[in-house]
Amino acid sequence: MVNILFAGGSHRWPQYQAPLRHALDAAGLSEAVLATDLPPAEVDYIVYAPTPDGFTDFTPYTRCKAVLSLWAGVEKIVGNASLTMPLTRMVDDGLRAGMIEWVTGQVLRHHLGIDRLLANQSGDWRPEVPPLARDRPVTILGLGALGAACAGSLTALGFPVTGWSRRPKDLPGLTCLSGPDGLTEALRRAEILVLLLPATPETDSLLDAARLSLLPEGAVILNPGRGTLIDDDALLDALDSGAIGHATLDVVRQEPLPPEHRFWAHPRVTVSPHVASETRPDTASEIIAENVRRAEAGEPLLHLVDRAAGY
Ligand code: NAP
Repeated sequence: MVNILFAGGSHRWPQYQAPLRHALDAAGLSEAVLATDLPPAEVDYIVYAPTPDGFTDFTPYTRCKAVLSLWAGVEKIVGNASLTMPLTRMVDDGLRAGMIEWVTGQVLRHHLGIDRLLANQSGDWRPEVPPLARDRPVTILGLGALGAACAGSLTALGFPVTGWSRRPKDLPGLTCLSGPDGLTEALRRAEILVLLLPATPETDSLLDAARLSLLPEGAVILNPGRGTLIDDDALLDALDSGAIGHATLDVVRQEPLPPEHRFWAHPRVTVSPHVASETRPDTASEIIAENVRRAEAGEPLLHLVDRAAGY
């Protein structure tokens, strides 16, 4: 008997129960028990998302073979010393599609100057024709499941895309850079900068004052990655001076963003309240079920978190 504990939050259980059951049945696991409440010592797999009312001590789950995160970003649990079993993160079609739509939409918004058109209610008839996509360099920091997918969508539209990752990469249609010199070069090129890095000690405040100053005058920053990637004070200084033209922030250091935070009222900031892309129960359930099937069959798990790298 395989026992699967759903620990993704009581509010998510109604959305996940049926798709997970369906996916488990389709994966040949119709005998598996799926519940939100099981004796810890009898749990084989934990489907997990950090929630305020959830648990963070994995010690009692002595039989657990894997923790399967519903989220792509695992910074809240990757350093948990009681989580000694394999940990997987979420990579799924729904998450990928949502991020492609958000990033492509935001890049086009800034590329085409849509904000200027929306604000023009004064009969101003001075055409400011935007350049073609091929003349608007975009840089993406992070070329993983989401960064690479967004790069593909942007290159298909004609944008010259430069990507930067920890390990060197060779992806068709874009310039791939790595290392400190690669980061400098990637930032110098970025009229529009997209952050799709994970939150790790190495990426904390990666975009500080010195690196912000490498961006072209008036560059636009899109952050659907994690709030910790940016030094907020340095960003606000750069926005105040106009060195950075706009920042669209889907993620921030403190979520929800406190009402008094300067980002809300800043004329050069758009706050997008962590809506860029969400795990979709139907597609995510297939990944969870496939990983349980693999573990039961002794096959390698998909999307294992590299605990040393932190993502
Ligand atoms: P991923 O597949 O793990 O990719 C992460 C990328 O970042 C990889 O290319 C990795 O390089 C690179 N990277 C990591 N540390 C680095 C470092 N120190 N220096 C340079 N590059 C580094 O992750 P993903 O699925 O694409 O997701 C990326 C992030 O998006 C998640 O961690 C999460 O924080 C965020 N996210 C946000 C939302 C939202 O709604 N806003 C939704 C989902 C995910 P290598 O390729 O060399 O490993």
